Amino acid sequence: MLKLEGISFTYGEAPVLEEVDLRVDQGDTLSIQGVSGSGKTTLLKLVAGLEREHKGRVYLDDEEITTRVPEDRNVVYLSQEALLFPHLSVFENIAFGLTVRKVEKEKLQAQVQGLIRRLGLEGLSDRSPEQLSGGQKQRVAFGRALIVNPDLLLLDEPFASLDRSTREQMQQLFKEVVHEWGITSLFVTHNVKEAIMMGDHIALLKDGRLHQYESMQAFIDDPQSGVKEEKSFWESL
Ligand code: ADP
Repeated sequence: MLKLEGISFTYGEAPVLEEVDLRVDQGDTLSIQGVSGSGKTTLLKLVAGLEREHKGRVYLDDEEITTRVPEDRNVVYLSQEALLFPHLSVFENIAFGLTVRKVEKEKLQAQVQGLIRRLGLEGLSDRSPEQLSGGQKQRVAFGRALIVNPDLLLLDEPFASLDRSTREQMQQLFKEVVHEWGITSLFVTHNVKEAIMMGDHIALLKDGRLHQYESMQAFIDDPQSGVKEEKSFWESL
């Protein structure tokens, strides 16, 4: 469970987030939709512990983690660019979190192979990241995140640079796997359709304020979300 209370943050003089409250229950995904520059990445950085000079409190599984450094949070951040280790193979990239924890070889093999299968990366174990497509790189990055069984996954427009059909496949795969593993996540995107698709719940970040909706329908019905406007456009054709 993730809870934010009264989070405010400024870069220099410019306020970016003001009195942000949110709550995500264990195993749920909260989509946060907002236009470019609305503070989505900043919010994820605060939750990851990369920016700690803010007002308000952060709780993870009922423990306050506001002042904890990123390494002590068990939170994984995934961005648009799958940041893989270029000198390691697909297998080694996914295994990384277990290797540094010195997990025994057989257990490591079994877990990594299981993820490779589940993420549709069979046959690519020995490749280096530069030999992968954008979608395959994101699968590897996802595998590397999942293997450490994080308490929270932070997804920062992870599919924004993929073509439409790959993006749709990846959205489906992420959604299924996050639910199978019971991972709590925050998914930020400027894309309204993606926000609706990926979230169990949804919030809108606008002018530094975050509004978390009671239901997906409430978001769709809110003129501020722009969904009705877009729907009318398509219906007018
Ligand atoms: P989003 O992810 O929604 O596009 P960001 O969180 O990246 O928005 O940025 C929110 C605001 O903070 C923007 O106005 C941006 O210009 C500003 N900003 C982001 N990073 C910095 C920084 N390191 N220094 C100063 N201003 C920043």
